[in-house]
Amino acid sequence: MHEAGIAAGILTSAIDAAGKAGGSRITTVDVTIGVLTEVLEDALQFAWDAAIVDTIAEGSTLAVTMIPARSRCLDCGHEFGHGRYDGTRCPSCEGYVVELVTGRELVIDGIDID
Ligand SMILES: [Zn+2]
Repeated sequence: MHEAGIAAGILTSAIDAAGKAGGSRITTVDVTIGVLTEVLEDALQFAWDAAIVDTIAEGSTLAVTMIPARSRCLDCGHEFGHGRYDGTRCPSCEGYVVELVTGRELVIDGIDID
């Protein structure tokens, strides 16, 4: 499962950061995830709850912020939101030369430790 690997990666980073900060317990981890990563929030929460057992993050909350996909047209500059499987064409000028602005994030924004 895709999400299990991501949860494990977030957890490793969080434990590493908590260790460097001198914390002994992780209470909350804030993450921002773009919808184009194809991470499903429910599956990630499930994977997180499994991953944190017997670690310093046991019982912690994974606070997920999902970021919608947005792209910018390189022809006319129009910026537009879109779903997972569209967004390859500008809705304003119908150009096909677009670049992704947001949607592929997978970032740890913050870690609360005790
Ligand atoms: Zn355009």
